[in-house]
Parts: sequence; C-alpha cells; structure tokens
Amino acid sequence: MPMFVDTSPPGQCIFCKLVAGEIPAATIYEDALTIAFMDIGQVNPGHVLVATKRHAVTLLELTPAECAAVMQTAQRVAQAAEQAFGPDGITLFQANGAAGGQTVFHFHLHMLPRHVDDGMHLTWPRKEPGMAVLQAYADKLRTALAAQKTN
Ligand SMILES: [Zn+2]
Repeated sequence: MPMFVDTSPPGQCIFCKLVAGEIPAATIYEDALTIAFMDIGQVNPGHVLVATKRHAVTLLELTPAECAAVMQTAQRVAQAAEQAFGPDGITLFQANGAAGGQTVFHFHLHMLPRHVDDGMHLTWPRKEPGMAVLQAYADKLRTALAAQKTN
C-alpha cells in the first residue's frame, strides 16, 4: 500500500490544491468534473490518478454525473496508457476510508499499467460462506437498494 497519508482538512487537501493549480502536477487530462495526473509514486510507468475536481471524500459522496465522468476518464487514460506503454494488463484501484486503503481523502482512483511479475499484489482472502448465507447478504442489500432514492 502507498505510504503517503494526507491528513489535511477538507478544502485544503493536496488534491484540492492540485485542482486549483496551487501545487505542481503532471496533469495529462481534465474536463468539467475530473482531472487525471501522474501519481508521484509510480508503481509502473504510466501510473495515473483520476480524481474528481470537486472535493468529495469517497465514492459514496459522488453525484451520478461524477461517477460516470470518473469512469469515462479512467477509460480514456487506460487507452492512452495502452498505446504509450504497452502494458500486459491494467488494474483500476479505488479505495474508500482508511480501512479500505484510502490515504488521500479526496476521491480518486488509480489507473495502473501492469506487467507480469511487477511486484504488485492485492491480498484477497476468499471465503465461501455457502448459498444460504449469500442469500441473506443479498436480502440485506436488496432491502437497502429498495430504500434508496432513485437518481
Ligand atoms: Zn480535496
């Protein structure tokens, strides 16, 4: 996991300063809702962060338009990385909350060009609770989804 942790208050965070042009960045793309720039800690050449321009901490705070824009920008920069760096694969990584691995508390995702045996590992402790438990989890989520306001 990345070691840098930004603890700045909202509105003064490092990505808000970057969006405002107050700190230097290697920006490669921006539109009305998103900005894409090189991660200072390149896992592999071409490692890009896609962030919302508006300060939102997690996925849960994004508007539907921001959600769509972030993924469209991620696809564009992934296509550019494919052409520019010819990776063996591409990983999108998006973390929410400290427990989720988030270290800068302004929404962003990582677009990571990947190569065979590049040293990046994601621990994935797979569990198989069985169909009865799966259905109980599904019921909880269906109930929560049904209670959501439609956008
Ligand atoms: Zn911010």
